[in-house]
Amino acid sequence: MESCTLPKAQAPTPSISVIIPAYNEAENLEPLQQKLEFVLEELPARWEIIYIDDGSSDETWGKIEALNQTDSRIKGIRLSRNFGHQYALFAGLQRATGDAVISMDADLQHPPALLPKLFEQWQSGHKVVNTARLDPDDFSPFKRYTSRLFYRLFSYLSGVPLEPGMADFRLLDRQVVGDILKMREEGLFLRGIVQWVGYKSSKISFQSERRWRGVTKYTPRKMLQFAWHGLSSFSLVPLRVGVLIGFVTSGLSFLSILYAIYSKLIIGQAVPGWASSIAIISFLFGVLFMLLGVLGEYIGRILIEVRGRPRFLVSEDLGLSNTTSPSTSSTDHLDD
Ligand code: UDP
Ligand code: MG
Repeated sequence: MESCTLPKAQAPTPSISVIIPAYNEAENLEPLQQKLEFVLEELPARWEIIYIDDGSSDETWGKIEALNQTDSRIKGIRLSRNFGHQYALFAGLQRATGDAVISMDADLQHPPALLPKLFEQWQSGHKVVNTARLDPDDFSPFKRYTSRLFYRLFSYLSGVPLEPGMADFRLLDRQVVGDILKMREEGLFLRGIVQWVGYKSSKISFQSERRWRGVTKYTPRKMLQFAWHGLSSFSLVPLRVGVLIGFVTSGLSFLSILYAIYSKLIIGQAVPGWASSIAIISFLFGVLFMLLGVLGEYIGRILIEVRGRPRFLVSEDLGLSNTTSPSTSSTDHLDD
């Protein structure tokens, strides 16, 4: 192993890494890069930007290569296929070398102009600087409503407070990044994990911009998957719902048995009602199968965890130390 040539103690200026997952964002990278550079050059810090191409089918990787040619501080990771935003973020966290790591979206919805504020909060001792998005006007009421509902449900069920609008636009201190990298779970839900690790944190609100070019990469299916992964990796409450329903329904049916006996023996009349019994039975069967489904989901998740496959694969990288295994993280320093 090669020894470190740049001891940290000699570097008075802090270093920051900006990690940016990009899935078919070719048209957005250049405008974003321009704005970022403008802001980063003003900061009293050394910087690197790592674009993570999450298996794009457009020119995204070509653009990253071109940017890397212009400046070696612009680096790239290419995942072997589309693994999803959370894994792309994780890949970035693994390769980032800065004293602080800022994650943001590639579509300019997370304004680079906010970076100095994040930096300031970090310098004043916050290990985590979160941001809260004030909903943009092009957010469909459906997305707005479902996202609020999800955050509320998540916080309630998991006990980990997530605030509405909390996006994956945040700054993490190296220490927190180290902790997060230790997590080996498959269903990665960074928003929850960042809250879970704790530390002194602060929050900055920002008005989200419209997406610069292209369309959202979070299809309803991806959103649903994201929500379920988040919920099931933080809460066992969906499993307990079964126990609760079981108690309530068996209590009720016990009462109805008592009533049937009473009716037959005391009043001398059997309780009529073929239709109602069938209705109740089918209803309960429905509930039963739903709960079996939930159980199956959790067992499936256990299977995935136990299998222990790598969570994503890196096919190539640019400007980063030459380790392509996602389980190894480099600890070298930034290029100057
Ligand atoms: N993204 C990704 N992989 C995916 C989906 C999205 O890397 O499978 C990236 C995307 O390129 C963007 C960020 O994640 O930089 C947020 O996605 P998007 O803007 O589409 O989501 P929205 O802002 O609409 O919630
Ligand atoms: Mg977006």
